[in-house]
Amino acid sequence: MNIILFGAPGSGKGTQAKRMEKDFNLKQISLGDILREQVKNKTELGQEVEGYMKQGALVPDDVVGRVIKEAIKVDGFILDGYPRNENQAHVLDQILQEMNKEVKAFVYLDSNEETIVDRLSKRRICKACGANYHTTNLPPKVEGICDNCQGELSQRADDNPETIKKRWQVFLDENRKLLDFYDKKGILVRIDGTKSIDEVYSEIKIQLK
Ligand code: AMP
Repeated sequence: MNIILFGAPGSGKGTQAKRMEKDFNLKQISLGDILREQVKNKTELGQEVEGYMKQGALVPDDVVGRVIKEAIKVDGFILDGYPRNENQAHVLDQILQEMNKEVKAFVYLDSNEETIVDRLSKRRICKACGANYHTTNLPPKVEGICDNCQGELSQRADDNPETIKKRWQVFLDENRKLLDFYDKKGILVRIDGTKSIDEVYSEIKIQLK
């Protein structure tokens, strides 16, 4: 089974994908994580995409298309962060066709600006293991320290007020067409992403049964 998880930055895609990985035996493919790793390692690709990511803009479609083509070779995936516009959806369709793969559901975590700004500005991530926290909704036991591995918590470089605003705007510009695209295919699953992590997850499980 292959799933696409879609929603604004901060809508909970990463958190839900981690749970789905275990229960559905799927592999999470987060394009944002792949790109951040490239930036961290200062690869050629990392240097190419860093400027776009810092501004909260989308990396050009041809660049991310190449990355996705490699990434989805696995059996059974949850695609998190791709596609983000209609052109990327067409590119993905073509790649899937070439690979003889299908997507069962396009799960949309519906949210709003207020929730997104709150979640992103209070998001903290463990530098060592990547675990996610929220300073009020999901705080670590000891401030600034990861519960799992005692690593140091930090904020993502693009989780600052100006870039959050830009990322929300990019999302608004693109999401309608993308939702229509998958609605027409009959695989759109809309979920209220403003609810708690557990409530959202149980709704996903019900819908994917
Ligand atoms: P994310 O971790 O999903 O919030 O993505 C972080 C950043 O990576 C975005 O703001 C973009 O700059 C870039 N990015 C992630 N996914 C895509 C995509 N599908 N197309 C273009 N750029 C992307």
